[in-house]
Amino acid sequence: MTLRKYLFAIVFCTLICGLGVAGYFRYSATVLERLQYKATDSSLMLREFDRIGEHLDLLLISADLTIGTGESYTGQIALEQLQVMRNRLAAFQSDNSAELETHAFLRMIELLGMIDMQLRSQSSLATANNTINNKILVEFDNASAELVLIYDELRKFLIEGTQALKIESEKGSKQAMISGVLVIMLYVLASLCLALWLGRKIARPLEALSLSADNAWRKGAVFEAPIEVSVVEISKLSINLASLISRLEIMVDARTKDLSDKTHSLELQIEERIAIQAELEEARKLAEKSNMVKSEFLSVMSHELRTPLNAILGTLQILRDNGLTKIQEQYIDMADNSGAALLSLLGNVLDLSKIETDGITLVEDTFHLHPVLESTLDMIRSPAQKKGLELSLQILPDVPDLLMGDFNKLRQIIMNLVSNAIKFTDAGSIMIRVCRSADENAPDKLLFEVIDSGIGIPDESQEAIFGKFTQINSSLSRSHSGVGLGLAICSRLIEALGGDYGVNSKEGHGSTFWFTAILPQQKTSQHNKVVPFSKKLDTDSQHGHVDAISNEHQMKTVGPSKGSVLIVEDSKVNQMIASAIIERAGYEIEVADDGYQALNILSSRRFDVILLDIQLPGIDGIEVTRKIRSSHKWFSDVRIIACSANVLDSTIKSCQEAGIDDFTTKPIVAKELLKKLSQP
Ligand code: ADP
Repeated sequence: MTLRKYLFAIVFCTLICGLGVAGYFRYSATVLERLQYKATDSSLMLREFDRIGEHLDLLLISADLTIGTGESYTGQIALEQLQVMRNRLAAFQSDNSAELETHAFLRMIELLGMIDMQLRSQSSLATANNTINNKILVEFDNASAELVLIYDELRKFLIEGTQALKIESEKGSKQAMISGVLVIMLYVLASLCLALWLGRKIARPLEALSLSADNAWRKGAVFEAPIEVSVVEISKLSINLASLISRLEIMVDARTKDLSDKTHSLELQIEERIAIQAELEEARKLAEKSNMVKSEFLSVMSHELRTPLNAILGTLQILRDNGLTKIQEQYIDMADNSGAALLSLLGNVLDLSKIETDGITLVEDTFHLHPVLESTLDMIRSPAQKKGLELSLQILPDVPDLLMGDFNKLRQIIMNLVSNAIKFTDAGSIMIRVCRSADENAPDKLLFEVIDSGIGIPDESQEAIFGKFTQINSSLSRSHSGVGLGLAICSRLIEALGGDYGVNSKEGHGSTFWFTAILPQQKTSQHNKVVPFSKKLDTDSQHGHVDAISNEHQMKTVGPSKGSVLIVEDSKVNQMIASAIIERAGYEIEVADDGYQALNILSSRRFDVILLDIQLPGIDGIEVTRKIRSSHKWFSDVRIIACSANVLDSTIKSCQEAGIDDFTTKPIVAKELLKKLSQP
């Protein structure tokens, strides 16, 4: 049977039962109502009958007086009462003819007629003869006695009827109550049975179904459909659920298999990734190694190129001092200029390679801006003067003087820009201007401008010149030294200082190269703090070289010795150049070809300074320094100035750690070297 039919049956049964119960109660109420009406009616009848009795008493008394005494006045009353009695009895009988015994009534009326006649005949007799007819009196007594008897019987009958009705009504309401309770109980019982039946047919299978589904879902048990299900929908539901679960199980199995396949393939992929990662790691290590090799190569190449260059420039320097003809001096100048250009080129290539290999490490220090810029300009004042250019510096008053930052990098940038300005300006002036940047978010930012009145740069080339190996108007650029690396180096250095850069230029009307740098203002001076090894030295050398050599002859001194210097250098040419410069400056010198020889000489003679090449055969300069410092002999605290073409950060750091006091680069710049030698 379908659930719909079950529900229909339930509703139908409930409706029928409800109607039955309602009908029963309606019927009981009607019966009870009727009984109560009847009981009330008979009470009213009894009351009416009692009133008739009162009139009967009056009648009998007055009739008795009339007939017994011949009193005519009472005869009149008796007749009136008789009339009232007759009327009331007639009305009573017509109302309740069904309930009363009619013959008794008729007899009563008949008796009343007789009494009427007796009254009339007695009163007419009494009026005529003034006598009492005993026969009439006897008849009246009999009639009145019978009348009273009938009345009493009728009254008794009425009382009994009323009481019977009362009892019946009470009994009926009691019965109605009992049967009502019974009907309600029956109704409840029937409802209970219906609920139980429904429970068995619908609820129980549904519970079993839910439990089975719950077990299957939570505990992973096998789904079992309830066995006896009479409701079609529930049985269909359980069958469908079972097939759904089995289908789900199949799907889960398929998914699980799919997942395990995927997991397997993922594992394979992970293994592959790990392998690739390992390969990448290998490649990275290889790249790092290659990078190191490249740095090493650069360092070696720098050394190897600078060493002969040093020799060439030094030789030229010595040659110049040996009295030359004018034409020979011109040749020497040409060779010297070319050497200087080559040195500058080498410096730029080395700088850029260093930046790309090691990145830029800033050496922060407190410095005074004004002297740093002045000294930078001093280094390049000479070529500007040679071209008749006015070189000026303008620092606006609101620019703080005591700053924190890497002043060597700042100097390198300014040097580069001003060198370019000198190169590309034939007449007029070059001005370096410093002011606070307009950037409100960075109060420590300064704006540097290098303004020249040179050839200018066409609009379309202004952006490109900051790239590597970029030169505009190559024929013109070729006439100047450089390969287009200077601005590329500058741009990297400026970025490292946290600034921006750019150029404003108009062809034929000069250029303004500008850049910003974050250089926080310092409150207290730490100016005495000196950075031990200035990486700027090699840049200085690029531009200071010509000056140094041209002024060389002025440095010759004759007089008492300024001190003793041990030159440790394996290259004969470098030995010769260093000896010539130092000896002419008034120092006593001795030369060692390698580290062992130097240690030997040191053990027998006292020196003020050791000029020590870093790349020596046998033990290198750093190792020699370590041996000297750890010897605990009288020479262990001798001042050591390292000399090398290798200016990599790592080399400088190793020198410092080994105990080297100062550092100068190759090729040797006479002025620089003598300055360092003269320092205590
Ligand atoms: P280079 O070493 O060739 O000077 P730079 O990178 O310093 O290389 O400059 C790139 C190019 O930018 C130069 O070749 C030149 O054409 C142009 N340039 C740089 N500075 C100036 C300047 N002040 N006036 C005109 N042109 C300039």
